[in-house]
Amino acid sequence: MPERNPNPPYKRIATEEAWASPELFQLYMKELEEKNIDEPGFHSLYKFFGGTNPRAQNLARRIQTLGEERIADMDAAGVDMQVLSLTGPGVQLFDPATATALATRFNDELAEEIAKNPDRFAGLAAFSPLDPANAAKELERSVTKLGLKGGILNSHTRGVYMDDEKLWDVFEAAEALDVPIYLHPNMLPRDMVQPFLSRGLDAAVYGFSCDTGLHALRLLVAGLFDRFPKLQIILGHCGEALPFWLYRITYMHTHISQTGRYDGVKPLKRPARDYLCENFHYSNSGVADAPPIMYVHDVIGAERIMYAMDYPWQYEPSETGILDDLPMNDADKKLFFEGNARRIFKL
Ligand code: MN
Repeated sequence: MPERNPNPPYKRIATEEAWASPELFQLYMKELEEKNIDEPGFHSLYKFFGGTNPRAQNLARRIQTLGEERIADMDAAGVDMQVLSLTGPGVQLFDPATATALATRFNDELAEEIAKNPDRFAGLAAFSPLDPANAAKELERSVTKLGLKGGILNSHTRGVYMDDEKLWDVFEAAEALDVPIYLHPNMLPRDMVQPFLSRGLDAAVYGFSCDTGLHALRLLVAGLFDRFPKLQIILGHCGEALPFWLYRITYMHTHISQTGRYDGVKPLKRPARDYLCENFHYSNSGVADAPPIMYVHDVIGAERIMYAMDYPWQYEPSETGILDDLPMNDADKKLFFEGNARRIFKL
């Protein structure tokens, strides 16, 4: 395995790094006991993280701290800075009004924690997707008053995707504020999870990508980027494999949209490829593997692929060595580790 460069000509800015307020973690544990919410994907995953398995306990502790342990972990992996976001499902497990109230509290808490170590941390704002006017207000408050750098959308909210234009206030706000929305996985919704669950394929192993990639395509096909042409969405995990499907998605969507076969599919102003290349940025979170990273770099562009670790879920200090060794020229590697994050998040 390649050694990490001890003195690289770039800062390593990790852009999809998870955090949970201890209060949020307690609310999840309470839900596990009370079982008010019929989301088997959530219950399966958090039953594990709330349990006694040593790996689970280790992760449950790490995700709730933004202090010394996390900074020591970053130093051990050569990570200079983390862009923090509330881990999935974030506030999106709760009813819209509760989620709005929690988002406000957690954004305040995140901003206070960042202020203790502003050289090491930046953060994204949580919001309540099904409370659209307040979601937009909270994003604006978080960016203009708290200094947060964009929004975190943990995919669907109790099975509802954001392609309904009644929910677009927050995207309008993001475009107006010139900040990105990170479209991050959530546990699969109830109607989708069952075929994944019995073989343990529901979470990060594969299911997350299916759901989050689906969400991104629903937004695209609904015409979100015709309405908000400057909006930028960030996808992790090398784009949830969507860049790999660029040709076929574009070819088939063009033809399907001309047939009038589906009420929910109208022709767009541009081919699908254009939106995937111009309205999305991509991180390599969870994928410390040169070929798929280089694929996004080559097909989408050097300005749109950036570094992420997915701490603490995939804390592997050796991965930064693999990524230092990526077959990119020096300028593109600096964009990957540092420059693209500085530009999109205005760091
Ligand atoms: Mn993640």
